[in-house]
Amino acid sequence: MLVTAQRDYADLVQRGLSLDLTRGKPSPRQLDLSNDLLKLPTSYQAADGTDGRNYGNLQGLAELRELFAPLVQVPAEQLVVGGNSSLALMHDTVVHALLTPVPGAARRWVEEPEITFLCPVPGYDRHFTICERFGIKMVPVPMTAEGPDMDVVERLVAADASVKGMWCVPKYSNPSGITYSDETVRRLAAMRTAAPDFRIFWDNAYAVHHLTDTPDELADLLALAAEHGNADRVFVYASTSKVTLAGSGVSFFGGSPANVKWFLHNTSKQSIGPDKINQLRHVEFLRDGAGVAAHMRRHAELIGPKFELVDKVLTERLGDLATWTSPRGGYFISLEVPHAAEVVARAKAAGIALTPAGATHPYGKDPDDRVIRIAPTYPGLDELEQAINGLAVCVRLVAEERG
Ligand code: PMP
Repeated sequence: MLVTAQRDYADLVQRGLSLDLTRGKPSPRQLDLSNDLLKLPTSYQAADGTDGRNYGNLQGLAELRELFAPLVQVPAEQLVVGGNSSLALMHDTVVHALLTPVPGAARRWVEEPEITFLCPVPGYDRHFTICERFGIKMVPVPMTAEGPDMDVVERLVAADASVKGMWCVPKYSNPSGITYSDETVRRLAAMRTAAPDFRIFWDNAYAVHHLTDTPDELADLLALAAEHGNADRVFVYASTSKVTLAGSGVSFFGGSPANVKWFLHNTSKQSIGPDKINQLRHVEFLRDGAGVAAHMRRHAELIGPKFELVDKVLTERLGDLATWTSPRGGYFISLEVPHAAEVVARAKAAGIALTPAGATHPYGKDPDDRVIRIAPTYPGLDELEQAINGLAVCVRLVAEERG
């Protein structure tokens, strides 16, 4: 068996592939779905008469906020439209919290002796990079099929006032594809926290990114937190990066009225107003909730077969040598194998680029060395098939070599 695995690997290397499964980027065909945006807007006049070409309207156009409010579960008046990147909004909210006390805080986070964020794992590496940049300590929390292990979360937030934040990708999570259960969301809303200024960074990046006709439903954290007297606990984020154009979409920040006031107070020092032409373009193009749903179905038609292909090849090639997720939405498949770092290194040597093993964990350290994040959306079906077949060869080789 070892000889077969080694021969298959030698064949793979000989093919001189150059394939990339690293980042969850939309494919050119997906971007083509939004090409009409490039001809819009037909009018630079907003519904309230605002001239979209000029400065002003820091919160963003009401018609765009109203369009997205139900999709991201934030009342339109509590929603702010940002630039092309929700990650930038997350980064900047952390900076604002470091420099200006968040509602309910005794002081600025920068004055705290230590700041800790809970990080459900596997999670999104760019969240962890933000924490690393600002010296925020990260504590991993295991994911279950229902979302983060809430027994662990409740214990940690109650015991330690340095725990000021928690990253969550609550729907079709990056990378596990899990949608938090109603009970998980309710417990997040209701739990007792030692820090009065604790915040959940609710990164709803995949709110409308379904791969099936029966979308997952996510409970409304913001409303539930308010019901439990914790309205200020939640910062909501979303964007159209994977709805329209990844580099030229619009992003959203949402929260309680106090949080929105605090956020706008800070951003008013940064900008005289956002790109309203892009906002108008998005309203004209997407129109309403039904327009977004129809557009997302076209995305699903393009990427659904890619997810199916990965599942098929892994089933055929790896059987019970590995486990992997079959997500109902989002952009990633999470593959679990023994000796993940070595598998990734072997794949790299064979011309198949994967996200570094460990990237799904704080500080790049996956203690079990098991998780590999697969991003199947960008390559064409042929390339994807070659890449996953090649990856399977590497998994087999490492399994044989390591016994
Ligand atoms: N959050 C998550 C969970 C993501 O997966 C991504 C993109 N990979 C982002 C945020 C980035 O979003 P944006 O393009 O709006 O900055």
